[in-house]
Amino acid sequence: MAEKKNARNVVDYDKPVEGLPSHRLKVDPKFVKNIVHVGPDTVPNAEFYSEAKWILPGSEKEIKEVESHTHNFGELIGCFGFNYDDIQDLGAEVEFTVDNKTYKITKSFASFVPAGVQHGPLIFRNVKRPIFHFIAADTEKYE
Ligand SMILES: [Zn+2]
Repeated sequence: MAEKKNARNVVDYDKPVEGLPSHRLKVDPKFVKNIVHVGPDTVPNAEFYSEAKWILPGSEKEIKEVESHTHNFGELIGCFGFNYDDIQDLGAEVEFTVDNKTYKITKSFASFVPAGVQHGPLIFRNVKRPIFHFIAADTEKYE
């Protein structure tokens, strides 16, 4: 049926990403909840990669998601707060290093890191409310 032609392109389940590079750190699944990802193992032939997750409050330690790294593809990285009264409020502090310059961010943000540009670490601190975290990359496989 025509309306189901692209059903295989819809991901509505969590499948752990296998084979992530070593700059991606193990995080406590109690505070980092993967929602969905688009990759070669979920949507074969997709022309880009993405991950969506929630970063949740309650961790007594900082949450470091990635170490410093570069890619040969561009990457969008976004963090969005969950405060309806102040939608720009991230409700946490994110420390994000790009091109060896460190930014401390307390507002919802999206950023684009061009291919070949150093970025990371990405660290979440003092998470007061859930944060929707999204990455997308101009590649079929994240590496
Ligand atoms: Zn990256």
